Amino acid sequence: MNPKQQACPICQSKISSELHTLNSGQLVRCGECTLVYFSPLPTPGELEAFYNSASYRDYYSHSDMADSTFALQRYQHLDKVLKISEASLSSKGRLLDIGCGHGDFLEIAAAAGWDVTGTELSQEAVNRAPSSLQSSIHIGDIVNLDLSQSQYSLITMYHIIEHLLDPVQSLKRALDLLRPQGILFVETPNLGGLGARLRGKRWSNIIPPEHLLYFEGKSLRFALESAGFHSVKVFSSAPQSIASIAKLPKAAKASAAVIYQAVPALGMGALLQAIALRP
Ligand SMILES: [Zn+2]
Repeated sequence: MNPKQQACPICQSKISSELHTLNSGQLVRCGECTLVYFSPLPTPGELEAFYNSASYRDYYSHSDMADSTFALQRYQHLDKVLKISEASLSSKGRLLDIGCGHGDFLEIAAAAGWDVTGTELSQEAVNRAPSSLQSSIHIGDIVNLDLSQSQYSLITMYHIIEHLLDPVQSLKRALDLLRPQGILFVETPNLGGLGARLRGKRWSNIIPPEHLLYFEGKSLRFALESAGFHSVKVFSSAPQSIASIAKLPKAAKASAAVIYQAVPALGMGALLQAIALRP
């Protein structure tokens, strides 16, 4: 039992059990929806202060998540997933990327024919976006931004949901922004993945207060359905390349690569992804 009786950020249950003890707190698993979350959760004010700190901004500006090669691979993978999963998306319409950072992904999507819009909390990140995109990026939280409802064919949320104090509120807002039968794509680190299972509390994605929520297939599906999405499909994937394999000796690299390619089929890839539709 969680001694602080913190409510689960998704289902509000106060029943939880400890998964890992960390220096700064605990990771606990909700007894109802199985979400793993950091306890104690920061207040909105504490979280804002963290993201505005100089050390965080310095880290973010050097992150390899913001890179055009990476964005191209991300787009190509999404395109493939949509073609396999959603034949209904026959034409490219308006795309909204929530948490678009420097806009690398938006730039690739625009070149592929999408009418793109982005949202981003960090003014500093947007300042580094291509000038052609600046007017398409809104600074702020989607929950409060004045965006047109029921307009978007596709909304993407790459590595956003694990940072949120109230994920269902943001997902509900995404639902309102999609047109009927519009598609939401969510990607987050996979707590059910092989890496997370092998490394336990040393898994590289355990970085509170940056990552507050840790999803497996079941809890991600529950969050999406709680927000009103339907036809939820959850799957796991592997990134295009992985640094830890690249460093292995040649023989070990070959067998590691086989495992690496196979685990997504078992739901144990490093990334958890979901596609969900607005009814
Ligand atoms: Zn829960």
